[in-house]
This record gives sequence, structure tokens and C-alpha cells, in this order.
Amino acid sequence: MEIKAIRGFNDILPGEIGRWQFVEKTVREVFEGFGFSEIRIPVLERTELFARGIGEATDIVEKEMYTFTDRSGNSLTLRPEATASMARAYLEHQLHTFDPVAKLYFMGPMFRYERPQKGRYRQFHQIDAEVFGVHNPVVDAEVIIMLIQFLKKVGLEQLELQINSLGCRECRPQYREKLKSFLEKKSFQLCEDCQRRLQTNPLRIFDCKVDDCKQTILGAPQVTDYLCTACVNHFEGVKEYLSMAGLTYVLNPRMVRGLDYYTRTAFEVVSYDLGSQNAVTGGGRYDNLFQEIGGVDIPGIGFAVGMERLISLLPRDKGLVRYPDLFIATLGEDTKREAYRLANQLHLEGLRAEFDYEGKSLKSQMRRADKLKASYTLILGGDEMKRGKAVLRNMADKSQEDIPMDELAGTLKTKLLSH
Ligand code: AMP
Repeated sequence: MEIKAIRGFNDILPGEIGRWQFVEKTVREVFEGFGFSEIRIPVLERTELFARGIGEATDIVEKEMYTFTDRSGNSLTLRPEATASMARAYLEHQLHTFDPVAKLYFMGPMFRYERPQKGRYRQFHQIDAEVFGVHNPVVDAEVIIMLIQFLKKVGLEQLELQINSLGCRECRPQYREKLKSFLEKKSFQLCEDCQRRLQTNPLRIFDCKVDDCKQTILGAPQVTDYLCTACVNHFEGVKEYLSMAGLTYVLNPRMVRGLDYYTRTAFEVVSYDLGSQNAVTGGGRYDNLFQEIGGVDIPGIGFAVGMERLISLLPRDKGLVRYPDLFIATLGEDTKREAYRLANQLHLEGLRAEFDYEGKSLKSQMRRADKLKASYTLILGGDEMKRGKAVLRNMADKSQEDIPMDELAGTLKTKLLSH
């Protein structure tokens, strides 16, 4: 029986990889420019890290984690997100002793046991950026500016930045109670999941996609009306720094981020680039996460961009796959040896050259050159070679010219680089 990939786990094929590489390259350029360094974290962690870090009463921990017991009886989990692991690494390696401020980014696959559907997978990819160790709202603004700069650089233009403040340990419990008592009166209108959320994590009801729940929560009290003075000041600071940088934003008091550890600033970026509204990314501040996983008071702020979603929104002309610069068509064994020698030379110069390995007819070689979308084809015929020449065909306009063999590599390089 043919073995197929697991449901919700995708292959990324050569035809699509150009867009992935383009996004990854842009991440490195933009993030490194803002002073961020890459960190790579393991795929597996102790289950406890996510249970404590993300919060027991979140959808991820309640029902979406890939958790299993290893041969030594340890409970391990495939990472469903990166922030908790990045925070763990920062503590474990005492990065704060080098510099209390750490600006880190990460790219890689995440795993969540969700129902696979278009745009939702069980293995998906995220780009993550986090700043650890700064309370000041200036860094909230800086992280958001970097995110917007990155999204513009990959080609998204119609972006809307939405911001909110979720309060802190001091003021959020009071809001939570207000929200709970508002919703308890209407609990019969809520879906089964939200009835449960009402007891465990009422803020999550804002994220429910069920129409009745969306209607019910419309008149609910708003978190920004219950912020303590410190949170109000922090939020005002974020707004001021965003305005100083010329960024416009929309206040969205109904935006709550799904994970428990968020405090104060929360943000989302919505793209209207493909006509409809698409949430590209979200993030926020989480001043409690380090407390949960390490018992220390270190603030953090960051965001996660879903790669699959982002790539589906890219303009068509971004991140095109690289086609061969040259296809070398040969006639007979001698010319094949010459093609091999030439291709090796061009590869060392960084040019993408292909030739026929199997002794196919010239016609089928030309067909292959077309199919591979080579920019040029070099025809190495026995007679031309004897005359010290080869024919170079421009595959776009079909023009042909003779090129002296002894200048072949140099001529090709000049032509291809100016192409
Ligand atoms: P979250 O970590 O849940 O805040 O998600 C951050 C981003 O990751 C979202 O905006 C999505 O684009 C992406 N994402 C989350 N879950 C999935 C999934 N199952 N499949 C594809 N993308 C996802």
C-alpha cells in the first residue's frame, strides 16, 4: 500500500518554495536590522512548559497538543507555539546575565491537533519575535513597527493595525468578574464550549466564532474601562510612541488574545490585500509568563505570524522560484563531456546550469529546456564545436547567436548576470 503523509501535515514542494525562501530572507533582513538575533529551539519540550506557560484553560492546552509519553515515562509535547520555549531557553542559558534585554526571533514548524481545513493544519509554521526584559511601552511600539515594516517589505500594502490593552494582574480580575456576571445572565445563549469558558476563562468568549456567542458578547463591558492607572499610562505610552513613528492604529477593545499569559498591550494586523479581511498576525505583552515557568518577574512582548496564511496573501510576483539560467543541449558523447565540464564551471560561478544526462534526442532536450523555463539554451553540436563555436538561444525571444567556445563561460556569465 502506498504510504501517504499524515492528515494536516503538508509537503512544501519546489514549485512553492520560492515564496517561503523569500519570506524567510525578508524576516532575516528586517528583524536583524532591528537588532534581533535568531534562536532555534527544540521541537519537543516537557508538557509542563506549555501547560504552565500557555495556561491550562486555553484551547491549545485543553485539546490541541500533541502529547505523548516517551520510553522513560516523561510526558513530552510537540511545541504548539514558540514563546514559552524561547522564554525557557532565555532562563535556562541565563541570557539575561549577558544583557537583560534580549531581542530574539525564530522561524519553524508548530504542531496543534486541530481539525484540518483550508488554512488550518496540524503542522504549520510561524515566525516569532520576542523581546524579554523591558517594561517600557517604547518597546511595544518598536516591536509593532518592525512587524509592519516586515509585512510591507513582503508586499502587503493594505494593512490595519488594531490595538488593545488587556490589563494586568491587578486590574484584570475585576474586569473578568464584571464580564462573567454579564455573561452569566445570558449563559443560555452561549454554545457548549463558551458555557465551559464562562467558568474557566470568560475572556476567551470574545474569540468564539459561533453567531449566537458573537451576538451575546456584543453588549459586554469593555476591558479598557477597567484598567488600573499603571495600565492606562502604559497604553497611552504605546499609542504615543506609535503616533511618533507615524503609524496609524484602530482601537479594538474586543480583541483578546487566545493565550492566558497576555497582559496589557495586545495587537493584531489585518490585511485587506486580497479584497477580504484577513488576520495576518497577532501578538502582545505577557508580563506573567516568566512567573509561570520560572518564578521570576521578567516582562516580555512579541508576536507570531502564521507563515501559511502570510504566503497565501503575498502578491503573485513575490518569491518566484529560480529557473535554470542555462540549459546545455548536446549532440553525442563528446559534446556531453564538454557540457559536463562547462556546467561544473558555471556552478562554481553561482549560475544555475542544467544539461541532459541521458543522451536524449536534441528535440527532447529542447522540450526539457522549455519545460524547465531556462533563460538560455546553449546548443553544443559536434560541427559547431569543431569550428570552435556554440549556439546560444535566448528562450524568451528565440534569437540565436554564435559564441566562441574559449570565451563561453565568461560570455555566458556576462549575459546571464545582465539578464
Ligand atoms: P496563535 O499562536 O494561535 O496566536 O496564532 C498565530 C498565527 O499562527 C495565526 O494568525 C495563524 O495565521 C497561525 N496559525 C495558528 N494555528 C494554525 C493552524 N492550525 N494552521 C495554520 N496556521 C495557524
